[in-house]
Amino acid sequence: MGDARLWTGGRIFTGKRYAEALLVDGGEVVAAGTESAVRRMAPTGTEAIPLEGRLMLPGLIDAHLHLSDLARFRSGLDLTEVRGPDDLEHRVRTWVEGHPGGSVVGRGLDVERSLAGHWPTRSDLDRMTSDRPLVLVHSSGHAAILNSVALTIGEGDSRPPGELEGRIGRAPDGRPNGIVYEEAVRWFTSRIPARLEPDELLRTLDLLASFGLTSVATMNVAPEELVELRSLASDGRFPIRVRVYLRLLRIREFRPADLSPVGMDGSFAVVGTKGFTDGAFGPRTAWLSEPYTDMPDGSGLAVESDDTLADALSAGHALGLAPALHAIGDRAVVRAARLIRPYARRQGAAARIEHAALTPPSALVALGDVRPALVVQPGFVWSDSWLPQRLGAARVRWAYAFRTLTDRGHLLVGSSDAPYDPPDPWRGLRAVVERRDPLGRSANPDPHEALTYEEATRMYGCNAGVALGESALGSLEPGSRADLIVLDTKTLGEAIRLGARTVRETWVGGRRFSAAGEAASGRSP
Ligand SMILES: [Zn+2]
Repeated sequence: MGDARLWTGGRIFTGKRYAEALLVDGGEVVAAGTESAVRRMAPTGTEAIPLEGRLMLPGLIDAHLHLSDLARFRSGLDLTEVRGPDDLEHRVRTWVEGHPGGSVVGRGLDVERSLAGHWPTRSDLDRMTSDRPLVLVHSSGHAAILNSVALTIGEGDSRPPGELEGRIGRAPDGRPNGIVYEEAVRWFTSRIPARLEPDELLRTLDLLASFGLTSVATMNVAPEELVELRSLASDGRFPIRVRVYLRLLRIREFRPADLSPVGMDGSFAVVGTKGFTDGAFGPRTAWLSEPYTDMPDGSGLAVESDDTLADALSAGHALGLAPALHAIGDRAVVRAARLIRPYARRQGAAARIEHAALTPPSALVALGDVRPALVVQPGFVWSDSWLPQRLGAARVRWAYAFRTLTDRGHLLVGSSDAPYDPPDPWRGLRAVVERRDPLGRSANPDPHEALTYEEATRMYGCNAGVALGESALGSLEPGSRADLIVLDTKTLGEAIRLGARTVRETWVGGRRFSAAGEAASGRSP
């Protein structure tokens, strides 16, 4: 092999235990343990690397994000920092002036935080621009606001009968008010041409690598997008590993030839399918067993029929793909558990529930029965700080209940859901252990739901590897892939407090990552 490396003189968290030294060869971990024991195993010519007291961890894994959306988000109209309606209007107008022609899509608008819960409507957007389609996507991705021109998008296309009807908000006079939900968001936005430059995607992967992420799973990938991602991956241009979950309801449109892995040692692979069973808390479309506390006549909605979902899941299963179902409200969690039950004991990648945000005792019973991997977004504990008003104090106690779920033996996996929350995994790690954000805000501040530093790290490490069906990811035990990060701190607690800026080096498959442009030691993993 000739590329053996030996790290000594620091602290190495393997995911299971702490070690003094780590030996890597041929892209894999050969040994982790005491310095004297590991040194004896090093072949002649091994490069010795002193850690100088620094901490080493397995490379982090984000098991649920949206890669192409994130790349688009970073180059588009970003509304995450909007402060009030005037600021929103100013940002949109400035963007419109600076980008003549075509549709305008703004993303990341958190109506609760940025607009005190007051939803703009079609006429507000018409005032910002009336001659080009304008779509402002809610931060959850589960609702959007359209101006009048945007509402005419796809007028010639036949809409699936009835399906969008309950998803288009109406004013008292019966005309669309511009707010659309769930399937209607996807129906309209998928009709807006959105070209993605390969360089934007690669820069986004570089950003993720700089956070210390060495693998990410990208969700809801459409057939066209899969073809683009594959071609970049086969050019060997991905700096980190990418795993793909295909858009469930389009499962029959994928070409079998596009499902095979790319790259000698696993840089790109299709793992599963991802579908929706409900919406999100922000637009009150997450499906609850009791009405919303701040909207007593609504309890959210079930997305798609059981038959449609079951049929698509079995088509995915026939292709060897693992199921992942989005479920946020407690009633949806029970529904999702029932739908993936037939696949719960599959080999390889786990059957997953995405979010599993609200898990009162009734949902815990359903989950205990099926035992899917639960892919949660700890960053939402900070972002959804308005959740107590939505759900009421008694019910919100069961939101993002990471300790409760861990103690019941569930495999808890960390992720960001970026761009619907920031992609920085350190924000999520800190939310797992501290619950409250630096300003004291939290969706559910209950300190009993906090996890330890090591447990938090495992959520973004070996737990994610197991969920992806790859126990060689997220661990630095012998036989694992040599995906690792070196931090400028001595302890895990300090690293989690300080965050991404402590990441000094990211190594993927035994090769050191450096952003495109720097003299890289490297081909892709
Ligand atoms: Zn998502």
